[in-house]
Amino acid sequence: MAKRHFKGYFETYRIGEESFEVEIRLSPYRRSTSLSLRKNGFVCNAPSRLPKENLDSFIVSSIPKILSKIKKKPEPIEGDDVYIFGIKTHIEGFSSMSKEKRNALLKKELLPYVKEMTKEYSIKMGIKEDYEVKVRDCHSVYGVNHRKTLSITYSLNLVHYDKHIIDSVIIHELTHHFVYGHSEKFYKILLGVAPDYRLSRKKLINHIYA
Ligand SMILES: [Zn+2]
Repeated sequence: MAKRHFKGYFETYRIGEESFEVEIRLSPYRRSTSLSLRKNGFVCNAPSRLPKENLDSFIVSSIPKILSKIKKKPEPIEGDDVYIFGIKTHIEGFSSMSKEKRNALLKKELLPYVKEMTKEYSIKMGIKEDYEVKVRDCHSVYGVNHRKTLSITYSLNLVHYDKHIIDSVIIHELTHHFVYGHSEKFYKILLGVAPDYRLSRKKLINHIYA
């Protein structure tokens, strides 16, 4: 219902040599202005009473900030150098392998580890059931707990991160054994097992592998 108040339109902004299309969504109920980069491009949310020149200068100053953040993100794979468990590892010929072969190689590293640690943390957390553990090449989530079938699927992407960060994802998914959503109760259990969970999560989101 609230969505009806949106008034969205597209505008092109030129910064230096480049031009950027920004979707502008104005709402009379908004108090602050924000710019974010989504899958389909830049989206600016702003109060409808904000003067046009303020809106424009906000967008023009925010775009370079967002872009520089993205550029700083380190790549997990550079040529034949691959981050495996947070360590830059040289794998001869990696860059010329097919995606299937690369994924198979990475899966061989990750799967035994997440299997072992899921078992270990299950015991630690008092879970009697035996979870089946899978690894998939998916980038939208780090892990999914299918509680009904007692299986957890982890993202292959995790292979690039330090084991401590991977553990935080394992503990997160195992906490879903007890609590379905991300409520206060959920975090109470999670932080009991992984006290520095928030730091690990920050690293994960910001692509800090080590
Ligand atoms: Zn969750």
